[in-house]
Amino acid sequence: MTGLTLTIDETRWRDHLRAVADRTPGLVPVAKGNGYGFGLERLADEVTRLGLRTLAVGTPTEAARLREVFDGDIVVLLPWEANDPEAVRLARDPKVIITVARLNDFEVLANLGGDRPRVLVECLTSMKRHGLDADEMQAVVHMADALQVEGWTIHLPVSGDHATEAEAVGRRARDILSAPLWFSHVPLGVYTRLAETLGPDGARLRMGTDLWLGASSALSVTATVLDVHPIKRGERAGYHQRPVWTDGSVVVMSGGTANGIGLEAPTSAKSARQRAISLATGGLEAAGLALSPYEIDGAKRWFIEPPHMQSSLVFVPAKAKVPSVGDEIPVSVRNTIATFDRVVDRPEV
Ligand SMILES: *Cc1c(COP(=O)(O)O)cnc(C)c1O
Repeated sequence: MTGLTLTIDETRWRDHLRAVADRTPGLVPVAKGNGYGFGLERLADEVTRLGLRTLAVGTPTEAARLREVFDGDIVVLLPWEANDPEAVRLARDPKVIITVARLNDFEVLANLGGDRPRVLVECLTSMKRHGLDADEMQAVVHMADALQVEGWTIHLPVSGDHATEAEAVGRRARDILSAPLWFSHVPLGVYTRLAETLGPDGARLRMGTDLWLGASSALSVTATVLDVHPIKRGERAGYHQRPVWTDGSVVVMSGGTANGIGLEAPTSAKSARQRAISLATGGLEAAGLALSPYEIDGAKRWFIEPPHMQSSLVFVPAKAKVPSVGDEIPVSVRNTIATFDRVVDRPEV
C-alpha cells in the first residue's frame, strides 16, 4: 500500500446511518466539500440506499455534479448568487431547491422566466452569517406567488443553547408564511420536540458530521511505513537537515500535505494553552517540532520536519518498537479536510 487509506466497516457504518435516519424524522443528509472523506457520489448513493428523497450540497457546482447521480431533490446550502451562471441554471431546475438569503435576489428570481424557482428562505440568526432579518422576512409574503417557497431555513451556532432562538425564529417565520422549517445544528432532542409540535412534514434537519462521521469505531485511517533508517543523536535528516535529539529511527510514512497531513484546524484556546505550557517547559514543541498524527507503538510520533507532499518523516526513539517497511499504521486525520488515496469497505466477515 501507499498513500492514505480510509477503511469503512460497512455493516457498522450503515447500521449507524440507518439508526440516525430512523430517529430523525425529516432528516436531510448533507454531502459537500470532500464528501466528509467518503466522496460526494458515495454519500449520494448512501442517501438513496436509506430511501431518503432529499440531499443537501454546499455549492452550485456540487449540485450540478450530484443531480446526475441522485434522483431526488437537491438543496444548495450556500445562498443563491445571481452572478453565478451555474446558480442561475439551477434555479430553473425542477430537481433543485436553492437557498435565498438576500431580499434583492427574490426580485431577480421572480423574473427569471420558466418554472417558478423552488426556494428556501434563510433567516438571519445569532450566527450572523447569511439571511433575512426580522423586518426583511415580512417581504416574503409578496414573493410567495412568483416562487415556490419550500421552507424557511434556520442555521444556529454550534456552541451555546439556542433552543429558545430556534423556536422564536421558527414562530416568526411561520406567522409570515406557513412553510416547513429547515434547521441546522439544532440538538436532536430540541429538534424532535419542535418537529412534534410542527406536525408531519413541518420540520427538516440538515446533518453532515454526526451522520457520516458519528460512528467513529466503524472508520479507520491508516498509512504505510515506506522506509526505516537508524539514526544517532545529533545526526541530521530531511530536506532541512535538522539534527535529531536522541538515538532512534527515521520512519518514512506514506501521506503528506496532499492528503491533508499537517493541516491543522484553526487553533482552539485549549491547544494555544498547551503550546504556552510547552514553550514554558521547553518541550519539543518549543524547539519548533510538531507532533505528527501517526501512531507508532502506541504513541503519536514527532515530525522530523514539516510533511512533504506525499510522505512524512517521523522520529521513533530507540526505546520504542520500530515498525517494519510495509506495516500499516493508524493516523488521526480530520475526515473533512483529508484526501484519501483509497476508500475501502471491509465487508461483513
Ligand atoms: C455544512 C452545513 C450543515 C452540516 O453541518 P455538519 O456540522 O457537518 O452537520 C448544515 N447546515 C448548513 C447550512 C451547512 O452549511
